[in-house]
Parts: sequence; C-alpha cells; structure tokens
Amino acid sequence: MKKPATKTALIPKMYCNLFGHDYEVTKKVTYHVKEYTCSHCKKQLTTNSNGSLIELTPKFREINAILERIHNTRMERSREKMLVSSIC
Ligand SMILES: [Zn+2]
Repeated sequence: MKKPATKTALIPKMYCNLFGHDYEVTKKVTYHVKEYTCSHCKKQLTTNSNGSLIELTPKFREINAILERIHNTRMERSREKMLVSSIC
C-alpha cells in the first residue's frame, strides 16, 4: 500500500525548521525587487519597498506584476533610445 502523500510533504518543512529555508531567485521583477522560492518547502518571499524580505502574498504578487510591467516598458524605451542614438 502507498503511504499518504501528506506524510512526505511534511519532510521539507521539517528540514526548513531545522536548517532554515533555502531560497532561490525565481523571478527578477526590477533591479531591486526579486521573488524567491524555497527549494524545499516552496515558501515564497519577495523584496518590499524597504528592501527587506517579506512573504509573497497575493497582494504583493499583484504589486510585483505591476512593477514588472512598468520596469519592462522603461527598459524597452531606453533600448529604443540607445538604438536611435547609435544610428544618428
Ligand atoms: Zn523552506
């Protein structure tokens, strides 16, 4: 018989409690804001406006999505400018 899946899912959390989370950058929102995911328990963090790490709540996910959009438009604009200045 198979063991219940919930039992194995508890192990990563125990690992994190013992050794701490092992966060990896999963998304670069802007130069300063990044999203992190723990490779063991999949807990997600993000950088807030003060530069400290906080839990990635749906609200912050939304804020990050907006930030990312603004950041990308800016990047595209500056790339256009660079292109124009290299041609002219
Ligand atoms: Zn963890």
